[in-house]
Amino acid sequence: MKAAAYVPVSCSECTSLHLQLVEAGAPVSCAGCGGPALVLPGATYEPSDVDLFERIDAAVRFDLKSAGAGYRLASDLRHPTSRAETPAEILLRLVDELPSLSFLLPPLCVKPPSPAQTAEMTRATGMLPTIVVARMRQLELARLRPPAGEPAQALDELTDARA
Ligand SMILES: [Zn+2]
Repeated sequence: MKAAAYVPVSCSECTSLHLQLVEAGAPVSCAGCGGPALVLPGATYEPSDVDLFERIDAAVRFDLKSAGAGYRLASDLRHPTSRAETPAEILLRLVDELPSLSFLLPPLCVKPPSPAQTAEMTRATGMLPTIVVARMRQLELARLRPPAGEPAQALDELTDARA
């Protein structure tokens, strides 16, 4: 039996996406609202990853406006243009579409990043595919199943107004 681990969890009730300590094989409920939650496939994490994961998710949630853009970003992350790309180069490319991620990049990029910054950027690029795919799915669901009484259009407008 595997020990409990921090895994990415997506709540179908409150749409929270976060790292949560989950016992192997046990049913998962959202740490935020107690609703049914889904464990996302991918890596397991350390308690020290929780904060970074949440900051990246907040950035993606804020900037990602459509499932289509999410799909593009997700396939870009899965098939990088070059294997030799550093995490900083990957992030620089993503920042065009997800400007809120710029907190991950060292100021101005004039100096080579410190080992700590490199480590954070490496962790970030590992988390990003999971987060982008999960948020893309939620955008897709919101488009297919708008809240009762609200046309899908209104949901798009809400998202745009927040920008
Ligand atoms: Zn929840």
